[in-house]
Amino acid sequence: TDVLDVAAVRADFPLLAESVHGAPLAYLDSAATSQKPRAVLDAERGFLEHSNAAVHRGAHTLAAEATELYEDARAAVAGFVGAAQDDLVWTHGATEGLNLVAYAIGNATLGRGAPASARFALQPGDELVVTEAEHHANIVPWQELAARTGAILRVIRIHDDGSLDLDHAAEVIGSRTRVVAFTHVSNVLGIVNPVAEIVALAREAGALTVLDACQSAPHLPLDLPALGVDLAVFSGHKLQGPYGVGGLYGRRDVLAALPPFLTGGSMITRVTFERTEFLPPPQRFEAGTQPVSQAIALAAAVRYLQGLGMDRIHAHEQVLERRLREGLGAIDGVRLLGAAEGAERVALQSFVVDGVHAHDVGQFLDSRGVAVRVGHHCAAPVHARFGVTASVRASAALYNTEDEVDRLLDAVSGVRAYFGVERAAEKQEADA
Ligand code: PMP
Repeated sequence: TDVLDVAAVRADFPLLAESVHGAPLAYLDSAATSQKPRAVLDAERGFLEHSNAAVHRGAHTLAAEATELYEDARAAVAGFVGAAQDDLVWTHGATEGLNLVAYAIGNATLGRGAPASARFALQPGDELVVTEAEHHANIVPWQELAARTGAILRVIRIHDDGSLDLDHAAEVIGSRTRVVAFTHVSNVLGIVNPVAEIVALAREAGALTVLDACQSAPHLPLDLPALGVDLAVFSGHKLQGPYGVGGLYGRRDVLAALPPFLTGGSMITRVTFERTEFLPPPQRFEAGTQPVSQAIALAAAVRYLQGLGMDRIHAHEQVLERRLREGLGAIDGVRLLGAAEGAERVALQSFVVDGVHAHDVGQFLDSRGVAVRVGHHCAAPVHARFGVTASVRASAALYNTEDEVDRLLDAVSGVRAYFGVERAAEKQEADA
C-alpha cells in the first residue's frame, strides 16, 4: 500500500516504548530533537566496534575502510537533499553551518581566501537580510557579522497570520542586499516559506541565499539544487540521526570561492610558516577530526527515511498536521501562533493558553505522558511579534499517531479547568 505503516515504524524506535508518569510516552517534541531508529543506533555502534579508524590518512586496512564508509555516508546524505557528494560539507550542526558561512564571508571581507572570494566581501552599509521568524541560529551570526563589517541587518516582516510578507521582502531586498538568510520552515510557526519567490528576489539583487532547512529536511522531499539556493544547512539530530553532526550544502561555484572558517589539520594541501594552501571543498571547510561515526549514523538515518519514502512520510504527517492544528484551534482559550489559512505546513503548531503560563501547560501535559516544548524555542523575536514571551509547541514526526495527537488535544482541553482559569473568568464576568 501507499500508506506509511506507523506501527512498524514505531517498532523501529526503542525510545517510543518508554512511559512517563505511568502513561505511555506521546513524544511531540521532534522539532527540538528527534528519536532515532535502531538502524541508526546500530550503524554508529557497528562502526565503532568494527571499522573505527582515522579517515583520509593512514595506509592500514581499517583506515581505508573507515574512509570509504565516511565518504559513502557523505554521498548518501548529499543525495538525500538532492546534492552531489562533493557539495556537502560535514558540520557539527546547523548552528555551526550558519556560523561557518557568516565567518567565511567575514574572512572574505578581510581579504582572505582566493581572489574569487572578493565577490563575498562586504562594504559598510551593505545589507544582510533575515526574516522575522528565524531561529536565533539564523539571526545572531549575521548580527555579529554586521557588527564586524559595518553591514546592516534587515528583517522581512511576517503577516499577523504568520505567513511571510512578500511585498515587504520585495521592499527590503534590493541593490545593497548581499545575503538573504531565511528558514525553509519556521520552528515556531510550522509554515513553509515561499523559497522560489525569495530566491528570485535575491538573484535579481545579486545576493547570496542561505537556507535553514532544519525543520524541512525531516518532513518534506528535499531538492536543494532545485530550490535554487546557494547554501543550506540542516542538523542530523532533528533528522532521526545522532547529535554532533549536520550538513552544509553549497553550490559548487559558491563553495569553491568561499574562504575557510576554521583552519588547521585536514583542510590544507601545504603548510609552511610563511603560507598555507587550502584544499578544495568540501575538505576546505572540515578542519580537524570530523564526527565520523555520527556522519555514518546520519547516513543510516537518511537511508531509513528513504526506505520508507519521504512522500509517504510527508502524507502521513499532513494528516497529523491537520488534526493537530484544527483540534487545537477548536479548544476554548487556545490561541495559535501563525494560523494562516491554506498555508503549506509541517506538523508543528505553537500555541498559548489564555491565563496559563506555557511552562505550566507543559508540566500538565507531561503529567499525562505528553512531551512538548515550552518557552521561546530559540526564536524570541517571533514571539515578541505575537506579543508573548513563551508558547507551547507540539511537533510531530513520522512515528507519531493520530491517537497521540488526540491525547495532546484531550489534555490541552483540560488545562484551563485544572488551573482554575475558567472559574476565575466566570467569576469575573459575574462580578462585572
Ligand atoms: N534553525 C532551526 C529552524 C532550528 O529549529 C534549529 C534547532 N532548534 C536550529 C536552526 C539550530 O540547530 P542546532 O541547534 O542543531 O545547531
